[in-house]
Amino acid sequence: MRNARGAWRMMLCRGLCQRDEQGRALRMAGTLSDTTEQRLSDPLTGLPNGAYLDLLMQEKLDGLPRPPLSLVKFQLLNVAQLFDGVAVEHAIAALRKRVQALRQRLPARVALTALPEHTFAMVLELDAVAELDRVLEPVEALLAEPVEIEGRLVWLSHVSGVAIVNLHEANSADEWRRQARLALASARQSDVGTRCYYSESLRQWERYQGRAEQMIRGALANRGVCCYLQPIVDIVAGTARGFEALMRLEDPAEGLINPGAFVEVAERTGLIAPLWEMLMEQALPVLKDPGMRERFGETFLISVNLSPRQLMDSRLLELMLAACARHGVAQSRLQVEVTESAVLSDPVRASRMLERMRAAGIQVAMDDFGSGYSSLAQLTSLPLDTVKIDRSLVLDVSTLPRKQHVLAAVVALCQRLEHGVVVEGVEDWETVTLLREWGVREIQGFFYAQPMPMAQLIKQFELPLPLAAAGASANDAAG
Ligand code: C2E
Ligand code: CA
Ligand code: CA
Repeated sequence: MRNARGAWRMMLCRGLCQRDEQGRALRMAGTLSDTTEQRLSDPLTGLPNGAYLDLLMQEKLDGLPRPPLSLVKFQLLNVAQLFDGVAVEHAIAALRKRVQALRQRLPARVALTALPEHTFAMVLELDAVAELDRVLEPVEALLAEPVEIEGRLVWLSHVSGVAIVNLHEANSADEWRRQARLALASARQSDVGTRCYYSESLRQWERYQGRAEQMIRGALANRGVCCYLQPIVDIVAGTARGFEALMRLEDPAEGLINPGAFVEVAERTGLIAPLWEMLMEQALPVLKDPGMRERFGETFLISVNLSPRQLMDSRLLELMLAACARHGVAQSRLQVEVTESAVLSDPVRASRMLERMRAAGIQVAMDDFGSGYSSLAQLTSLPLDTVKIDRSLVLDVSTLPRKQHVLAAVVALCQRLEHGVVVEGVEDWETVTLLREWGVREIQGFFYAQPMPMAQLIKQFELPLPLAAAGASANDAAG
């Protein structure tokens, strides 16, 4: 039934009939009870629940003429903070109070509904972004204010997703829900406070993510993980300082797949860890391979990438040590590459992990330095052996003098701090020459070699001549 304010109430109708001998009904008595509270409301917040939202969405979609419509969902990401160290009743009371305040910021006829996982939703009869802004901005402003609980302030983080119904398309409630869920999922991948609108590109993104996950699972099931190696060349000695192990997936339909197409999804889903373990099974034997030893000696390193999640996994070190023992290789020939962003999420914990690895003899390199959020402080405080300078600092450096200043300064800084320096992404001789002048010895880039399988590396890759020898031959030529 609908009440005078236009809100739906769920009624339970029960009756009992009294009949005569022939079975004819004589009298009827019964009750009509309002069960909205039990069936359509959320016990924690007292707000209408998802079942209520479903009714409302269907009703609005069926409206003739159909009004402009948007479904807005927002999720509180850290409600657990409210419950941290306070009595549960107090936390619940604080949450309810905040929810009531949110309701007051909304137009009177808009129903705020509560969904699982601290998600809230509402249907707005609007479809222009500017109008949505006007309604949502006060709500978001309130969400950004701290909640006071037992004399303590707690800031709640939120993200939101909006699905606007396209007036010109038949739209089912299921599709509408899906769009809002996708928009919210996409907002969750961004910074807190993000509001994300559903779009066709989001749908494509979802498809891509789905496909990537299938590829990864297929590769895991069929041992389709391949280890490609790219040399890190010591240009002075003319030797291979080491080889970076780069992952490829073998897909029956798509062939060989580069990390660009799957690493992000692998990291997000946690599948990077089993992939990486498979990679290690191929990367570690490289150290003992007779062909590799013959061509590149007994001291080169194998350098492996660690994802942010792996770095936070307390079992990682044991896993690496066990793998080294199983393959009979010394852990001192292993290098791990971690990115700044991996460290940034929890610098103290990351430092401790890296410290433990170094204590076990594993070398630690900071990967992609100079891309993203470069923090110079990290260069001094983190336990590092080597810094790998990112390709973006190197790109076009031979033709852009201003970029030369930046790269030269970064190189000099790393040298001053007595870190090993590897410059990545070097593609031409001019850049090699510049780097040589600045005292850089170790270079990784297409100029020397692309990543390739071990067999090809043994057969085809030619190390450059040592610089002294190259210098001598240049002198000879001059002489
Ligand atoms: P990365 O760790 O920075 O690896 C270097 C990437 O730069 C490689 O791409 C390599 O092929 C490319 N590269 C090297 N030299 C040059 C050059 O001179 N020019 C250009 N244009 N590119 C160059 P790849 O193999 O596609 O790997 C991309 C990224 O995927 C890696 O970047 C790394 O972040 C990630 N990745 C690869 N394997 C793994 C893995 O086993 N675990 C994790 N967590 N990430 C991995
Ligand atoms: Ca790397
Ligand atoms: Ca890199």
